This record gives sequence, structure tokens and C-alpha cells, in this order.
Amino acid sequence: MDGQINQWDYLATNIQAADYVRKLANRMPGGFFIYRATGNEDILYANKSMLKIFNCQTMEEFREITGNSFRGLVHPEDIEGVERSIREQIAGNDDDMDYVEYRIIQKGGEIRWLEDYGHFTQHDNEGDIFYVFVVDATERKKRQLQEKEEQLQEQLRRLSMIAGLSIDYESIFYADLDLNRIQAYQISHRFRHKFQDINTVCPFIGFDSEYIQMWVHPSDRNILLKATDAAYIRRKLSKNKTFHTNYRIIQNGKEEYLQLRVVNIGNDNHVSQIVMGYRSVDDEIKYELEQKKMLKDALEQAKSSNIAKNTFLSNMSHDIRTPMNAIVGFAALAKKHIDEKGKVQEYLNMIETSSDQLLRLINDVLEISSIEADRIQIEESECSLLDIIQEIQSAIMPRVSAKNIDLSLNISGLKHYIVFSDRQKLFQILLRLTRNAVKYTEFKGQVSITVKETESTDREYASYQFIVQDNGIGISESFIQHIFEPFERQQNTTLSGIYGTGLGLTITKNIVDMMGGTIEVVSASGQGSTFTISLSLRIQNRQFQPFSPKNQKQKPASEHRRILLVEDNEINLEIEVELLQDAGFLVETATDGSIAIEKITHSEPGYYNLVLMDIQMPVMDGYHATSAIRRLENPLLANIPIVALSANTLDEDRRKAMECGMNAHLPKPVNMPQLMELVEKILAAF
Ligand code: ADP
Repeated sequence: MDGQINQWDYLATNIQAADYVRKLANRMPGGFFIYRATGNEDILYANKSMLKIFNCQTMEEFREITGNSFRGLVHPEDIEGVERSIREQIAGNDDDMDYVEYRIIQKGGEIRWLEDYGHFTQHDNEGDIFYVFVVDATERKKRQLQEKEEQLQEQLRRLSMIAGLSIDYESIFYADLDLNRIQAYQISHRFRHKFQDINTVCPFIGFDSEYIQMWVHPSDRNILLKATDAAYIRRKLSKNKTFHTNYRIIQNGKEEYLQLRVVNIGNDNHVSQIVMGYRSVDDEIKYELEQKKMLKDALEQAKSSNIAKNTFLSNMSHDIRTPMNAIVGFAALAKKHIDEKGKVQEYLNMIETSSDQLLRLINDVLEISSIEADRIQIEESECSLLDIIQEIQSAIMPRVSAKNIDLSLNISGLKHYIVFSDRQKLFQILLRLTRNAVKYTEFKGQVSITVKETESTDREYASYQFIVQDNGIGISESFIQHIFEPFERQQNTTLSGIYGTGLGLTITKNIVDMMGGTIEVVSASGQGSTFTISLSLRIQNRQFQPFSPKNQKQKPASEHRRILLVEDNEINLEIEVELLQDAGFLVETATDGSIAIEKITHSEPGYYNLVLMDIQMPVMDGYHATSAIRRLENPLLANIPIVALSANTLDEDRRKAMECGMNAHLPKPVNMPQLMELVEKILAAF
């Protein structure tokens, strides 16, 4: 280095050489200047590139801008740091070299960055001086700044990603097991007593003992203690990158599920650096538990449905077999004793009873299956509660008389008797309750039907209670709970001698539910029973008409009445003709729909009073035949009353019959009292 100075010295003292050096320095692409290391740090020399860096044309301009000193050359904000750095570098190395970067302010005000390679030297004439090579580093600096900015943005993106991912976590810790240190990244109030802020560093061992004591459910404390034991964590994470443990805390007296997740973020072979996250999994676990319970319930349900199905089949098989055995057995006996009139009569009576039972069972089962298949609908029409009660009274009378039962009706509390309801179903459910009351009451017992109307604030609706009470055998406390379940009977037919299917009350309850009402039963063994159906019905605000339960003497409906019976099945035809003639009707027959049309078309109006029409027939069925009759030109013939007599007894069959113009629908086999009653009503209206 001294050699160089001497060279410079030599050159400086030699003017020619000095000129040469100046020229050389001026041709250098980078900046070059010399300044005093002491005093004002005056600049002794600056080459052309240096002037250019400062956007100056002349040395005078350069001097003006820089004050001709190194201090004035450097940006005021950078000078202090730059001088300190130079001092330190010169003191710290043997070469007296330094490297600094700083900003300058060009002529015109633009700020540029310079790289400064300085060399300190002591000169005999000039004293301590620095000679410096500079390069304009603005573009590189800009690039660096941009890269830094990009790095910062990336860092911020990562941080917000971590924050986003950790949003579910109420507490997150970073721990080093080797150093036995743990620090929080995110802290919930539950850890605050230990970690005041994210700068708190604690020993890892025992960091959560207060937390466990204060918050964790006593039954789960050991689980969590184990999960945060360093040896356990090392063992678990040596096999997998992460593991988790669920536990419960007690929050405001309620249990809440939390999850601790531990992740190895360090060396796979030696577990030490880990991240631990605590988050609430309450909703997930509760949902999972709920799903499990639902599955369990569904399984139970499936099992019990299966049991119910098997019970149903075995009940059905028993209940069908019993009357069928009787029918087959008594028919065989009747054949055997065909000449003994008394015996045959007795056997036929038995066959009749068994057929009745079988029919009732089939009807009930069909009705239940219709209810279950949602095929039953409630259809409202205007009807009279008085008529319904009267009909029930008539229907039940034979049994009431046979058992010498005292049947009383109490309808004095009835203000609106014309209501809108499903007449057929209302009749059916009340009849079932009354029939049961008579059935389960001994000889000379008492049965009452009461209809109460309670005050309603709604002008359109009234609340009704239909109460059927008896003083019969009553129902035990244990059985009452099952009374509305299918096939449930307090005592089976064999034991009690009372025939039943155990389906009646199931049907009744279902229909009451569909009508939006309720059914209640109050009873005790030997104390009689009270069944109450409560319904809200739309009312017709008409005048109350006095009720006369007893029918006035009327001409029998059958007198001189001619019925056209349309039926394709020979046996049915024979039975029905016989029954109708026995009841006093004149009967003519047609074996399909087209013959019926033929007969009616060629008859005098009024010759036939009624048509009993089967539905399923060859050539032309009952629906088509009825439609054709309704289209006859002569209105007196076209409007003849037509009653469907059909084995198709579902609601939809009944609706279809009405749609094609029939006046009523009766199920097969013919129930004579029912038929007579209907005929009476229809003929009275025509
Ligand atoms: P069923 O009468 O055909 O057996 P129900 O469904 O109508 O079927 O009734 C179910 C059971 O409820 C009956 O078997 C009987 O044990 C009991 N029960 C119903 N009504 C009465 C009543 N009025 N008094 C005593 N027991 C009754």
C-alpha cells in the first residue's frame, strides 16, 4: 500500500504524470474522489464520472452541491451511520479498507445509491486522506428493495395463512423438548394465568398443570396429562408426524369437547421441536354422538319393526285360522248331518258368526294398511251429529238388547249439531267405541254416549267431546299403556271368550289423529271405562232442531220396491237375490253392465227403484255402466239411484264410485241392515 502512495506521490509531483493520472481517472467509468480524513473532510479531487453521478457538468457545480466535503456529499440521514461504519472498518482491518453504501442527492434533487470502496492513507504533504472508488448502485438497490418488499409480502401472506389455519385453535404453542421450553403463539384466556403474552417462555414440564386442574373434566385429566408428557409425545411422534387427543373441559357448568393436536416440526429421527394446538371440537363431537345415537335408534327401530312384523304375521295367522277352522269344520259337519235340520241350522249359525269375524278382521287389517300407506284421507262434508248418534244407536241396538244393557244418550249440551266433518269416519270411530263398551260390559250393565259442545271463541268452529262410558270389566293400569297398539288385547279370545282383533282402537286413534283431535281413556280393572274423543269441528250456524231418537213408524223400505241387481258372480248373485227377496224386495238381475243398461233403457220410468251395481264385471264394469246410465236421454231413467256393491272397499274405490255418478257405496258381503237403512234413505230422497 505504501508503495502505491509513493507511486502516487511520485506521479503527483510530476506534473506530466499528474496530468496523465487525471486523464486516466477522468476516463474511468466509475466515480473516484479523494478527501481529507480530518477537519471538514474536504474533497481534494473528484473525477468526471463522479461529477456525472451527481448530475454535474463542472467541478464548481459539484462543489456547490456537496459543499466540497465528504460530509456534504452523503445524504444527511446516512452520514452518521456511514462515518461510524468507516471508522469501525478501518480500525478493524489491517488494510485500512472500508466498504459502505449510502444515498446522495443529485443536482435536480434525485436520490441515488452509491457503493463506496474507500482506502485510508497517511500522506506526507496532504496528511490523512481517503481515496474512494464509487459505483452508482441505485438500480441494484432498487432491485434489492423490490425483492425485500416481495419477501415481506410473501412473509405476510404466510403469516395470514397461518393465522387463517389457526383460527380454529384457541391456543397454539411452540415447544422445544430438548431445551424444556415452551412459548405461546396464540393464547386463550384459559392459559392466561401462565402465559401473559406471546413473549412468555416457560419450562415445558408442567406448563399445563394449572390448566388441567382448573378447566379439564376430572375424568379426562389423566388423558391430557399423558398427552403432554414429553416422553409420550416423543414416542407418538416418532411414528407419526402428528397425533391428537380429545378431552372435555367444564365451561359454565357444562361439558365442552376440546382437542389437543401435537405436530412434529423438527427432525423426524429426534423429536424435539413441536407445535401444540388446542381447539374446540364440541360441535363436531356432539354431532357425531348425535349421529351415533340416531343410528342406534334406527337400528332399534328396525329391530322392533321386525319384531312387530313377526308378531303381526303370527297374530294374523292365528286370527285368520281360528274362524277359518270353524267355517271349514262346521261346513263339513253340516254336510255330514245334512238331513238333521236342527244341527245344520246350528252349524250354519256358527259358520255365519265365524264369517263375520273373518270379515271384520280383513276389514280392520285393510284399514290399518291403508292408514299406514297414507291412502286414507279425511273428507269433510256437511253432516248432522244427531243423525250419526242415531245411527250408532240403531246399529248397536241388537247387541244392547241381547245383553240387556242400559244404553243412554246425553246430547243436551249440543248447540250446533250440523258440522263439517268426515261423516263416515266420525261414525266409524264412535261406533267402535260404543261397540267395545257394549262388548266389554257384562249383562245388565250400563253404557252411555255423551256429546258435549264447549264454548269456542271462534265463530266458525266448536269444540266437541264425544264420551263413551261403561261400567264394564275395565282396563288394568299396565294394559292401558298399550291399548292403542295394534293387536294388543287385554285377554285373547280364547281366554276371555270375547272375539276381537285388537285393531279397532289402533284404527280409531289413527283416524282421530288425522282429524286433528285427541283420544283419552280413563279406566281401572273392574271399574268400567271412559273413552273421550275431543275434536274441533267447523260448524253450520243453523237452528237447533229437536232430536227424536226413536224412529217414527214408517213403511218398510222394501215394500213394492224393485231392485235391479247387477252381479256377474253366480254364487254372490244367488245369495244376494235370496237376501233381498227375503227382505221383501222385488229383484231382477243383470250379469254385466251392458245388460243392465239394456234393461234400464227399455224399462218404464219408476219400474226399477234402485240399481245395486257390482264394480268388477266382464263385458262392462260398474263404473262404465253407471256413466252410461247417467247419460241416458230420459232424465227419469238417467237419474235412477245406483248403489255400488263392491268388494273394493278402500276410500279411493268409494271416491271413484261417486265420481262416475253412483249415489252410495256398500261393501261386500252385503250387510242387510246396512243395505236396508241406505235404501230407505235414498228412496226417501227420490
Ligand atoms: P278388540 O276389541 O277387537 O280386541 P280394540 O282395539 O277395540 O280391539 O281394543 C283393544 C283392547 O282394549 C280390547 O281387546 C280390550 O282388552 C280393551 N278394551 C277396549 N275397549 C274396552 C272397554 N270399553 N272396556 C274394557 N276393555 C276395553
